[in-house]
Amino acid sequence: MEIAVVGGGIAGTTVAWQLAVQGHQITLFEQSPECGPIGAGILLQPSGQQVLQELGVLESIRNVSPQIDRLHAKHRLGGTLVNLPYAKVSPNLFGLGVLRRNLFTLLLQRCRNSGVDIRSGQQISEYQQSETNVELSNSSGEPQGQFELLIVADGSRSKLREHSGLTRSIREYPDAALWTIGNYTGDGNTLLQVVGRCGRLIGMLPVGENRCSFFWGLKKTEEANVRSAGVDQWKRQVADFYPPAAEAVEHVESMDELIFASYRSVKMKRVTQGRVAFIGDAAHATSPHLGQGLNLALEDALCLSQQIAKTEDYRVALKNFESKRSPTTSYYSTLTATLTPFFQTPNRILQLGRDASLPIMPHLPYIGKQMVLTMAGLKTGWFGDKS
Ligand SMILES: Cc1cc2nc3c(=O)[nH]c(=O)nc-3n(C[C@H](O)[C@H](O)[C@H](O)COP(=O)(O)OP(=O)(O)OC[C@H]3O[C@@H](n4cnc5c(N)ncnc54)[C@H](O)[C@@H]3O)c2cc1C
Repeated sequence: MEIAVVGGGIAGTTVAWQLAVQGHQITLFEQSPECGPIGAGILLQPSGQQVLQELGVLESIRNVSPQIDRLHAKHRLGGTLVNLPYAKVSPNLFGLGVLRRNLFTLLLQRCRNSGVDIRSGQQISEYQQSETNVELSNSSGEPQGQFELLIVADGSRSKLREHSGLTRSIREYPDAALWTIGNYTGDGNTLLQVVGRCGRLIGMLPVGENRCSFFWGLKKTEEANVRSAGVDQWKRQVADFYPPAAEAVEHVESMDELIFASYRSVKMKRVTQGRVAFIGDAAHATSPHLGQGLNLALEDALCLSQQIAKTEDYRVALKNFESKRSPTTSYYSTLTATLTPFFQTPNRILQLGRDASLPIMPHLPYIGKQMVLTMAGLKTGWFGDKS
């Protein structure tokens, strides 16, 4: 088939590569002038590792990414909030602290090598479906070709999702983050999160060679003030909040070097419509607090390409894709949306609830295991898992 993929992020490049390998003719549209990774580091969960294993590229990512053995969340003045080792479920389970650049470069290279036609600098904003094809047009209204299938992977702010008219619910969070890669001499195998009374949250994910992906949680509305106060003031704020984090930001010379990300939660009732399928954040964006978005995007891409390989009838493929993925994505969407307000909340009542329950929960036999399976991305719905 002639297939268009819109969005050259992790979901888009993965599905484009896999479908090109199957012999389909793939055109990948990306709005940025150059395809490139956005952001610093990510925690590749066992679920995402399983996808890369099936694609035959896990080893090369593993070789350059440290093993993450546990999540440790604590109060900035001491006291553990939650300590969640993957080994609670199996000694063979762990995360990987991955530089986005490493994963993205690999996927883009595979796209190029397998003949994907990459058209960057093209923002696709509309499509029209007929009995036989889908026609795309860009943001200037210029036609961009006709395709037998359209895969939409244009991220959480998807223009095509809005254009589709499909039922969706979108919730903007007041929370956001500043991100950078910096020095780190802390525990190189632990994802450390530190919370404060004011609702502040910082994260440090080791990504190898004594570096970490540093995450500074703030409210969206604070961004302008933080930036205008200047880099020295911000560094002082980081050091005051959690002194061991000072080394992670010491290299920052200007606030412009920091990546800013705000979040939203997106849920769609249906993720397919005729010849169109939505995958990744376009279909089910979440806040990053549970660290699942990229892993879900990889799973979507693999599942969709596998379903397309199994049948000549795209309708069957899309229907099977939707029914296979829906229990998992709706579990993680609902859970993340429920838990997000507890992570960066300045509300004392929510904080007290969180602080009283979280330290105990991992020690409860059933709950503790479910927490690790959830973190590992291995839940396939409220009751199932693939451990
Ligand atoms: C601060 C932060 C930390 C995170 N940490 C983690 C983590 O540790 N683990 C994890 O699993 N997930 C994490 N995530 C989530 C993860 O980054 C996303 O879930 C993942 O990148 C989604 O991939 P995607 O390909 O669906 O979308 P995106 O990565 O958003 O890619 C969409 C692409 O589409 C392009 N595009 C958009 N609109 C158009 C258009 N109209 N036409 C053409 N191109 C278009 C964009 O330029 C972009 O390249 C984090 C997110 C944030 C913000």
